[in-house]
Amino acid sequence: MPPVFRFAPSPNGYLHLGHAYSALLNFDLARQSGGRLLLRIEDIDKPRCRPEYEEAIYEDLAWLGIVWETPVRRQSEHLDIYRRAVDHLAEAGLAYPAFESRAEIVRMIGQSPRKPWPRDPDGAPLYPGSVASLSKEERQVRLQAGEAFVMRLDSLEAIRRMGALTWDEEGAGPEGQTGRIAARPDDWGDVVLARKETPTSYHVSVVIDDAVQGVTHVVRGQDLFWATSVHRLLQALMGLPAPVYHHHRLLRDAEGRKLSKSAQAPSLRALRAEGKSPQNIREMVGLP
Ligand code: GLU
Repeated sequence: MPPVFRFAPSPNGYLHLGHAYSALLNFDLARQSGGRLLLRIEDIDKPRCRPEYEEAIYEDLAWLGIVWETPVRRQSEHLDIYRRAVDHLAEAGLAYPAFESRAEIVRMIGQSPRKPWPRDPDGAPLYPGSVASLSKEERQVRLQAGEAFVMRLDSLEAIRRMGALTWDEEGAGPEGQTGRIAARPDDWGDVVLARKETPTSYHVSVVIDDAVQGVTHVVRGQDLFWATSVHRLLQALMGLPAPVYHHHRLLRDAEGRKLSKSAQAPSLRALRAEGKSPQNIREMVGLP
């Protein structure tokens, strides 16, 4: 079976050099290994995703010379699958609805004697509640009253049931970690799996889609290295296979910041308008 790679952008802005590097690396690795390249549009965040950005993704990737298989998978067309998976976790006693607003979470953390409050690998404070904060009956009453909620993973229970997990890293983590990596899902606490208005989350959709699409090699930026801990735990809970992971270096601007939409990284289309060629882009991202 040929290896299966994927590039999975979110259509919430124009692609920049960081995306070009990730997409070209996936394309090159697929070519070199006689593998396949899939494209997935990660558009579950409806308010931030726009059709014109999705169109631009196809145009920019084709301009770079990248060839991908069709049909393209769009996450917004598969919300039912994600919803069912989160429902299953809840039925299995591994996920629960939590009702705190962001402000309440901040207040709970402020009131805690634990200082400093622990943060996840992305720098966000861990959820200060737990499945034990409310009884099953209280949760049911509040759900029936139509209160806003998020579904959270009962991470302690999930880790207890699944035991130690690892993944095979063919790239490297932020500290050069490579080879067999011990997953650390406890670093993330009770992550959000779904929201009332969006029945999924990045973590849930990504592991389901990688499995549904038969992805064998996940090649993506180092900023997602530790998210792999959560992905391995969810794969184990849902009985999904673990792909091989390859986290790649991040492109940075002159100030050392990771290229991003929010840091105003120049878009591929702006570079193209300036007269840059696809070969220039390859050189700029350090690919042959
Ligand atoms: N959609 C994610 C992003 O644009 C990538 C997800 C992944 O590769 O796992 O950052």
